[in-house]
Amino acid sequence: MYCRNCGKEINDNADVCLHCGVATNKTTANQSSAQQTNVLAIIGFILSFIMPIAGLVLSILGRSKASSYNDNGKGLSLAGIIISSIYLAFGLLVIIIYMYIFLLLIISGPIM
Ligand SMILES: [Zn+2]
Repeated sequence: MYCRNCGKEINDNADVCLHCGVATNKTTANQSSAQQTNVLAIIGFILSFIMPIAGLVLSILGRSKASSYNDNGKGLSLAGIIISSIYLAFGLLVIIIYMYIFLLLIISGPIM
């Protein structure tokens, strides 16, 4: 890579430029992004237990933004997506079963 201050070529792993002594972009970028918390992933994970639809949406958003947070919350948002998907699938299954029973009751109505 090249120094952002003097423009001379420096080692990719160097923390400071050997030519002018200015800190490289690499370290400052890592420090600032490491301290950021992926709030979307955390809220999405919590909401996946309470409101699966909102949890799923926030988890997907959190996962798409995980790269800008230095992959912070990537695993958490994936867990949120999986949990809310299971809840949604389970909820949908229950609705289908209820509708099926309801339909059966209507069809067999005269017998009752
Ligand atoms: Zn330099």
